[in-house]
This record gives sequence, C-alpha cells and structure tokens, in this order.
Amino acid sequence: VNNGLLSVTEAKAMLLSQFSLVESSEVELPEARGRILARSVAAPFDFPYFANSSMDGFAVISSDTQIASQDNPVELMVVGDIPAGTFPANKLETGCCMRIMTGAPLPKGADAVIPLEAIDNSNTQPDSPLQKQIYVKTPALPGEYSRAKGSDFHKGEIILRQGNQLRPQEIGLLAMLGLSRVSVYRRPRIALFSTGSELTPLGEILNPGKIFDANTYSLGALIAQYGGDLFPLGIAKDTVIDVETRLDEAVELMADLIITSAGVSVGAFDYVRDVVKKKGSLLFWRVNMRPGKPLAFGTYRGIPLVGLPGNPVSAFVGFEVFVRPALLKMSGASDIERTRYKVRLQEPITSDGRESYLRGIVWVQDGLFMARLANHQGSGNLFSLVQANALLIVPSEVKSLPIGAEVDAWFFDQSF
Ligand code: AMP
Ligand code: MG
Repeated sequence: VNNGLLSVTEAKAMLLSQFSLVESSEVELPEARGRILARSVAAPFDFPYFANSSMDGFAVISSDTQIASQDNPVELMVVGDIPAGTFPANKLETGCCMRIMTGAPLPKGADAVIPLEAIDNSNTQPDSPLQKQIYVKTPALPGEYSRAKGSDFHKGEIILRQGNQLRPQEIGLLAMLGLSRVSVYRRPRIALFSTGSELTPLGEILNPGKIFDANTYSLGALIAQYGGDLFPLGIAKDTVIDVETRLDEAVELMADLIITSAGVSVGAFDYVRDVVKKKGSLLFWRVNMRPGKPLAFGTYRGIPLVGLPGNPVSAFVGFEVFVRPALLKMSGASDIERTRYKVRLQEPITSDGRESYLRGIVWVQDGLFMARLANHQGSGNLFSLVQANALLIVPSEVKSLPIGAEVDAWFFDQSF
C-alpha cells in the first residue's frame, strides 16, 4: 500500500480473484471465430490423410531416374492419369510414370513427383492430351514434390489446446479435419452504463453545459473487441435512484460483470460507491495509477462491478489494465496479459510516481522501437489516444526518465 493506495498489481490480483470461468457449449464453426476453445482438440486422422503430390507433374519411382542427365535422358512410359479427387487403382511399375495433379494421391510404388515444368515435352494447357512417354533429364529425389501421409501431424496428436483463441487459421485447421462443431466458452455478459448528469445520448441536441456520452461507445467497443456480450443500459443521472435502478437492471439481465463510468471520485455528486456499499461490498476505489486513480471494484448483489473513472482516457486505460484481463479470464483464455515490448524514449518524460500508462507513438528506427509522447496527457484528451499507437508504462516510484531510457509498451496494433 502506497500513500494509502493499492498498487496496480495488488488491485489487479484482488480483482481477478473474483472472476470465475463461464460455461461452454458447442457452436457451428463459423460462429467460433474469436471465441476461446473449451476442450483441446486431438487430430481425428493423420494429415495429410494420404500421400499426395504438391505439384502438377508426373509420379515416378525415384530410383528409375538416378542415371538421368541432360545428355542421357531416362524414358518413362506414361501409364495413367490422376486428377485431384480420384484414387489410382494400379501400382506404378518400374520404367513407368503417371501424370498427377496437385493434391492427387500418389499411386502405390511411386515415391516422388517431377513437376510438369521440368519435362520438355509436357503440355501445360488445360485439357491437354496425355503424352505416351516423358524424358527425364534430372534425377528425382525420394519424396520430392510429394507430401507424405501424416507429415503435418498424426492421428491423436493435440493440435489445439483448451484456452486457445480461435483465429481464422484455427478455424481453417478445424475445417480441414472435418470438425464442423466446436466446444467454446460462452461470451461473458457485460452490463454497461455511463453516469453523469452532463451526459447527452447521441442523436439529441447538446444543451449548454452538456457533453456527449463517449464512454458508452468506447467501452462498448472494447467489450465487443475482447469477446464480451454487451448489454448497454444507457446513462444514469448523478442521483442515487438512477444509479441504483440501472444496477438492478444489470442484475435482472444476469450480467457476469457490471461496468460503470464516472461518479466514483470524491465529487459532491459521485454516488456509485455509496450505492455499491449499500447493496454489496466495495473492495477498493482508488489505485496508485495514472490516469485512472479513482477506480472502484466491488460486488453488487453478488455480481462483480468495476466503476471506471469518468474521464474518457482514464476509463479506457482502466479498462485495458483491469477489465480486459478479467474478461479474458472469465472467457477461458489461457493468455490474458498483453505482450510488453521494450521501447526507447526519444524524449525525456516525467511522471508523478504513480504507475503511469502514457499515450505514446512508437516507430522503428535502425531496428529498434523508438517512442515519444502523443500530444498532451490530460485524461480528458481522447484525441491524443487516437493519435497514439501504444501505451508507455512507467513503473511506480519513477518520477523522470531521460532520453534513451527503455520503457515497456503495450501496442494497440501491430502495424510495424
Ligand atoms: P467524474 O468521474 O464524474 O468526476 O467525471 C470526470 C470527467 O469525465 C468529467 O469531465 C466528466 O464530464 C467526464 N465524463 C464522465 N463520463 C463521461 C462520458 N460518458 N463521456 C465523456 N466524458 C465523460
Ligand atoms: Mg461526474
């Protein structure tokens, strides 16, 4: 505890301990994109399932071609044609070859493929007739241009693990194995509302002293991005009754997590903490971080609640630091932490000793990640977050860093 505040690490550990895994169910493969696998997958068969050609060409017995040279080509009789999707009935005998298309099964006896391009008299046009013989001028090596049965993985091998996120490539792999349904964790149900009597919903006229509600949208987008099922509950005015009504609505919706923004500080109209204390428990409401010190965590009628700060950047950073890992933990992801990259400061920076998440711009120079601050760091300056491509993480206790110092960074995107 630092100045009576919890450190980010302590607060995060306390918060994460309150979340448990949601249930899983089977879904159709296209619906599984982005979801977390609930059961490891073992390969139902060897892959490739049968030895096949990796080129359009001729299936051969490699030992037949060992004496081939430019001056003394080896003549092979073409005894068959194997289009993709067929299965050759006959064994390949010595002195013979079969025309074969990419992906078609190698006939018994064959152990290599010679690409069409390597054969002088081969015809590479569609519908081309089969020539009677080919002349091989370079020896084929055993296994060349063919894919052996089981050369990618074998039946029974674990190819995807519980906790893996299903990206397009995992979806493709499952399809390759004929697995049309897959067991994934359900999306956590996240109830979200903004608080503040100054907030105006989009589409309405902005009256004097009012601002548009940005947090509902930025936080809603983050929830969707990290796999949550969003239940937006609008805007609560700065009154006990309005805040309480929405919290109760979240309970009725059986939310797994309630997220609010604003009204958790020490202002005269900040009611969120009081309401949470009344019908639940408040575990902490301040964290030694910047931005985002007023950040509350507790439970409301048994449901975990994160009260994010009101300032749009603070709300966003608070979400990234605390809600993202919680959401991923609930969703069953095995990897809940963002990767940290070392970046080198191109300008000195100062901090106030709290663990700081500064909006930064990172670029590559001479093979190194360089960084500077993106504009001014006011916690209401959402525009600077738009200009940034990373958060630079300054540890607590550190008050200044010189040019050339290394800091950790979270990248928003991998556009490097
Ligand atoms: P508070 O936490 O209520 O003291 O709010 C801190 C600052 O964030 C104030 O300037 C609020 O007007 C602003 N703010 C609170 N909620 C939102 C929101 N949903 N969208 C944009 N700004 C907000
Ligand atoms: Mg307020």
